[in-house]
Amino acid sequence: MSQAAGTEIKRLAVLGIGLIGGSFALALKRAGRVARVVGFGRSRANLEQARSLAVIDEIAASPEQAVAGADCILLAMPVGAMAETFVRIAPHLAANAVLTDAGSTKQDVIAAARRGLGGRIGQFVPGHPIAGAEKSGAAAAQSGLYDGRNVILTPLPENSTATVAAVADLWRACGARIMEMTAAEHDRIFAAVSHLPHLAAFALVDELAGRPEAEVYFRHAGSGFRDFTRIAASSPEMWRDIAMANREALAAELDAYVSRLLCLRDALLAGDGQTLFDTFIRASRARANWAPGGTNLEDDE
Ligand code: NAD
Repeated sequence: MSQAAGTEIKRLAVLGIGLIGGSFALALKRAGRVARVVGFGRSRANLEQARSLAVIDEIAASPEQAVAGADCILLAMPVGAMAETFVRIAPHLAANAVLTDAGSTKQDVIAAARRGLGGRIGQFVPGHPIAGAEKSGAAAAQSGLYDGRNVILTPLPENSTATVAAVADLWRACGARIMEMTAAEHDRIFAAVSHLPHLAAFALVDELAGRPEAEVYFRHAGSGFRDFTRIAASSPEMWRDIAMANREALAAELDAYVSRLLCLRDALLAGDGQTLFDTFIRASRARANWAPGGTNLEDDE
C-alpha cells in the first residue's frame, strides 16, 4: 500500500467479516478509499451474505488467498483465532502491505503477531475501534459505525512512522478519531470499563435464567434490567476470547468490584442507609459528569 495519506487501497483483505470487519470495509467504500474488498471467514453463508450486501466484492477460499496481493489487511475475527491466522498469512504478505487488527485486547494479539509474523512484525499496527454493538455477522455491518468514535492504536517499536500514519489515515477515512497508548495501558483500562461490565451482565442474566421460575422474573424485568444487561446478548465466543486473553487484569477488576458489592451487602444487612446513600451519590455524580445529559454511546463496546 502506498503510505501517503488519502491514497486508494487497491485490494483490501478483511479476515473475519462480521460487524467490525464488515463496517470497516463499508466505511472505506463510502469514503471512496478502496477499489476491491476480498473477505475470508469461517461461515460460507455469512460470506455470501456479505457479498450480496456489497460489503465485500470477492470471497477468498483461505486467509493465504485473501492476503495474496493485498495492500491492506484487517484481522477482525475473535482474538483467540488471530494467532493461527498470523502464522498462515505471514509468508504471503506483500512487502508493502500494511496490516492491522480490531481485536478488543492488545497484549495477547501483539504476542501472537510477533510469533506468527517474525521479521514482518513492522508491517503490523495493532488497533481497537471503540465502537460496536451486541449484534454479530456481516448483516450487522454499517458504513457509519465508526463516525465520531475513537480508535486506539498501540504502535510497536518496529513500526515506521509512515506505517502507523497509513493505518491512522484509514481509520480517519472511516470517520474515527485516533488515540495512541501502550498495549498494557489499553488492556488495563478496558478490563475495567468494558470487560468487567460484560462479565457482570453475563453473570446476572445467567444467574436469573438458571432459576426454576426464571420466566416470571424476565416477564417483569423493565428498562433498568434491559439497560444493565443489553451487552449480555453479545457474542459468547468473542467475549470468551477477550476474557481469556485479559484474564489477569479482568480478575483484578472483578476483585475490586466484588469487594465494593460486599461493602454494600454489609451496609444493607447492618441497616446502614448512610453508606448506601454516600455510595449512590458519588456514583450518580461521577456518571453524570462522564455523560452529562445522558449518553449516545449505547453502541460502544
Ligand atoms: P462478529 O462475530 O460479528 O464477526 C467475527 C467474524 O469472524 C465472524 O463472521 C466469524 O465467522 C469470523 N471468524 C471466526 N473465526 C475465524 C477465523 N479463524 N478466520 C476467519 N474468520 C473467523 O464479531 P465482531 O463484533 O465483528 O468482532 C470482531 C473482532 O472485533 C473481535 O476481535 C472483537 O474482539 C473486536 N471488536 C468487537 C467489538 C464489538 O463491540 N462487537 C468492538 C471492538 C472490537
